[in-house]
Amino acid sequence: MAGNPAKKTPVQSFIKGIFAATFLSAVFLSVGSFLLAVITIVLGPVASLTLATQSYRGLCPHCGNDVCGHAPVFQCHLCKNKISVRDNSFHRIV
Ligand SMILES: [Zn+2]
Repeated sequence: MAGNPAKKTPVQSFIKGIFAATFLSAVFLSVGSFLLAVITIVLGPVASLTLATQSYRGLCPHCGNDVCGHAPVFQCHLCKNKISVRDNSFHRIV
């Protein structure tokens, strides 16, 4: 007998293609978000470390107290005046 029951119709292959595309895009999305998470985890501490090295410590030009802050401008935590950082030293902002 020369029957051919396994012959696919165009609709079946179309549905199969949609399933395959959905599966592939789900895999790509999960891989992409996984890579994004890994990059965030790796680069997060590095970025905060870079920011931490840009903090300066010295005497407040307004009140003379020992303060530390981030460039380019920060506020003295004692006298609440603004301090600008230029050439590794503190300057008043009037
Ligand atoms: Zn001050």
